[in-house]
Amino acid sequence: LFITFEGPDGSGKTTQLQLLANYLREQGYDVVTTREPGGTHISDQIRKILLDPNHLELKNQTEILLYAASRAQLVHELIIPALEQGKIVLCDRYIDASIAYQSYGLGIDKEIVEEINRFASSQLQPNRTYLLYISPELGRERMIKRNNREFDSDLDRIEQKDIEYHERVYQGFSVLAEEYPNRILKIDANKSIEMIFEVIKKDFEKFLNM
Ligand code: C5P
Ligand code: MG
Repeated sequence: LFITFEGPDGSGKTTQLQLLANYLREQGYDVVTTREPGGTHISDQIRKILLDPNHLELKNQTEILLYAASRAQLVHELIIPALEQGKIVLCDRYIDASIAYQSYGLGIDKEIVEEINRFASSQLQPNRTYLLYISPELGRERMIKRNNREFDSDLDRIEQKDIEYHERVYQGFSVLAEEYPNRILKIDANKSIEMIFEVIKKDFEKFLNM
């Protein structure tokens, strides 16, 4: 089973992913957790290039290809082998993030982003996706609190982008949830950590028994 967590920055997806991983491990499942961009040695190198706040010259074309390159390495080096061994893979962000951030955010044609990612991922799709939905304003507030970051300059290159960009990303996630209602469960991320986890846990148990 391949499960992904999506949502704007500060939505709490990493926290929920860890909670689900711990819960499933207690039940005896073999669980692998990973994240994007990153998750392998090579993908982590690519992550550094992508998120360095000094890389303002990075072109949109380069950005979309680097996210896809990071993903290609992660899918083939780690995710597919783990799935073949019967493990449950929980991934923090995946192709939906590229549709939201690179297509809706940057304005790159959606079909191009999809095509590049079909190739990069060998068409591997998540079985279930938890979309933690929170407005960019609230997400930013939380992010700054969480990391104890006081200055905008402590944010990564993408986080530093203007609020209009993050509004488009937010819209993009919303459209995705409407397009894939059977795969994506959209959850209001304004609720408490406990309440959100309760929703995910119940859903996942139902999903396991399907
Ligand atoms: O999930 P996490 O916050 O670690 O993601 C790192 C950064 O990469 C974030 O600022 C996120 O917005 C950005 N990102 C992106 N496009 C993706 C995946 C992540 O802009 N496809
Ligand atoms: Mg972030």
